[in-house]
Amino acid sequence: MKQYLPSLLIFSVFAAVAVILWQTLDNLFYLVNFLYIGTAVSLGSFLYVRKYCHARRIVQLFVGLYMLVYLGLICRENMQIEGFWYYLFLGVFDAAVIHYAVAKIFGPLVFGRGWCGYACWTAMVLDFLPYKVPQAPRKRLGWMRYVVFVLSLLFVLALFLLPVSNAAEVMFWAFIVGNLLYYAAGILLAVLFRDNRAFCKYLCPVAVFLKPMSYFSLLRIRCDTTKCVSCGRCERVCPMNVKITDNSRKRENGTECILCMECVKECPKKAL
Ligand code: SF4
Ligand code: SF4
Ligand code: SF4
Repeated sequence: MKQYLPSLLIFSVFAAVAVILWQTLDNLFYLVNFLYIGTAVSLGSFLYVRKYCHARRIVQLFVGLYMLVYLGLICRENMQIEGFWYYLFLGVFDAAVIHYAVAKIFGPLVFGRGWCGYACWTAMVLDFLPYKVPQAPRKRLGWMRYVVFVLSLLFVLALFLLPVSNAAEVMFWAFIVGNLLYYAAGILLAVLFRDNRAFCKYLCPVAVFLKPMSYFSLLRIRCDTTKCVSCGRCERVCPMNVKITDNSRKRENGTECILCMECVKECPKKAL
């Protein structure tokens, strides 16, 4: 039973956040929302312990589809970075702002880029592509994410500065068009660089928040150097080119680890 304790712990943390937000904001939505996500993540952890190979993808589909279809399309909440800026400037501490605060800004101090491995609806689609392990050296194109980040901010500022009467409607359509553009760019980059996660590495503006915060993450994979035989198998299967055998915080691409556990599964010496 001890091996299932992490699943219980994960569920308890989400349940605590659910109850705190429900009571603080007097909104039942937060109770249902965080209990749903907590159930999906703890189910994934349970399946991982049972050595089910698609555990991560199941969590990704449960959470990603819920956020994209239910919150984004049915509830018409723009959950992309533009939605975060929009609600933040409106002073509305609601779904998109809370989502960014928990999953993408402060949460990564605890669980790193767990969002990117287990919940993102963009990567949920990109992970179906065939280039699960990068098949070409990494490019120095990370600067592109800062351009997209600034453009997203300028787009929302323009909504406030120009006389746009139906900004909420614009934000809903921006969510649909923005996601279609992300999927198109993500698939194009994946095929071009033969790497499913090329979009995450070079273009995604959310990484501007995720990278610095996950540098300090409490949850991170470490290498037991007394067991490691330097075979390099872990690094060959890593979708994010992380130098995982280096335990320092400054390890190469360390802020890109999405906690997918592929390296852990691959290690023949159980050193990770
Ligand atoms: S880097 Fe961006 S697109 Fe990639 S998984 Fe993270 S949030 Fe999603
Ligand atoms: S393979 Fe290992 S180092 Fe690479 S992203 Fe997954 S968990 Fe992180
Ligand atoms: S797969 Fe294991 S033994 Fe091989 S280099 Fe990685 S941590 Fe070391």
